[in-house]
Amino acid sequence: MRYQSSGKMMVLIFLLALFSVLGAQQAKDQARKFTQQKKTTEDPWFRQEFFSEQMRAQREVLSPSCKHFLEQVEKEITYYPVPESSVDPSLTVSYENGWMAERKYKDTHAHEGTDLMAARQESGIYPVISITNGTVTNIGWLEKGGYRVGITSDSGTYYYYAHLESYANLKKGDSIRAGQLLGYMGDSGYGPEGTTGQFAVHLHLGIYSYENGKENSVNPYYVLRFLENKKLKYAYS
Ligand SMILES: [Zn+2]
Repeated sequence: MRYQSSGKMMVLIFLLALFSVLGAQQAKDQARKFTQQKKTTEDPWFRQEFFSEQMRAQREVLSPSCKHFLEQVEKEITYYPVPESSVDPSLTVSYENGWMAERKYKDTHAHEGTDLMAARQESGIYPVISITNGTVTNIGWLEKGGYRVGITSDSGTYYYYAHLESYANLKKGDSIRAGQLLGYMGDSGYGPEGTTGQFAVHLHLGIYSYENGKENSVNPYYVLRFLENKKLKYAYS
């Protein structure tokens, strides 16, 4: 009897071990399917960590649509959006990784972009240039964005520059080269057309993917980090 029951126990242990191995294998297969087939550019991790060094190094785990979007952006981003001043080195900008931080205007919403804050809090001083080649697809006032310019790059990615003080000589449909002046940094927005002074002078940058026909914002922070050593110099003070 004792021998038999320990034999049964052995069989039971063997079966348990077998099932856990099979289970682990199945979970692994599912994880692989998830990364290769299911993940889209809507994935919160993809949007938050977009263009980080880690993502760029491990791009093989990305789904085809995520990888495609990453590589389009990699190919087209050329210049940091705020040139350095060749005249006054104190005219710097700074930014933090504020993806999805809380913002309040009328209601509370999550911040879908990166704010480049002006060291000198004065509208109309800092030039804002296009990061990429593309086309002007939106220009004009938005209640939240103030005077904004939207550039659609050749890959179909949308680059959104908001809260400007004024525009360069641009109109909808114009072709834009990377490095071309779009306007000047300001503090416009959060009200009817012409509202200013509701927050600090800064450039709000947004980046939007249209993979699979769906609009999704991604975090511009790591794109900006990448462009840190691609700053143009303009003479302004
Ligand atoms: Zn912002």
